[in-house]
Amino acid sequence: MSKKYTGQCACGAVKFAFDTDPDFVASCHCLDCKRASGGEAATFFGVPESDFTVISGQPKPHHYIAESGKGLDRNFCPDCGARLFTTNLESFPGLVFVMLGSLDRPELIQPKLEMFTKRRLKWVKPLHLPQFESMPH
Ligand SMILES: [Zn+2]
Ligand SMILES: [Zn+2]
Repeated sequence: MSKKYTGQCACGAVKFAFDTDPDFVASCHCLDCKRASGGEAATFFGVPESDFTVISGQPKPHHYIAESGKGLDRNFCPDCGARLFTTNLESFPGLVFVMLGSLDRPELIQPKLEMFTKRRLKWVKPLHLPQFESMPH
């Protein structure tokens, strides 16, 4: 049976799917997100590991220690380099953080908060959402 949400990398080699309607959907302005995404912010959301399924391809994990000091694995496509999702999150055990931009229909999921607003660049306007200077508490 096919899942509700699907996503893929830029070349289509890696594909994934999940059913969860995520509760935690963040637009994060931290320096890690800027550097890893190449943009001003990254929008991502949490999906239970038990629901998240890679349906084709072999994403490559890159282990990383975030600004918080906690470890995580960023997974990207080894062919096209697109960043897809984050696993082994020391701060959020049991969750996979999926990058919104890799969804086939990114319009289906909207951010619920903004975080690390202290790192937001001056030319970006706040969204009409709860704002957190650093991590949400
Ligand atoms: Zn790819
Ligand atoms: Zn971040």
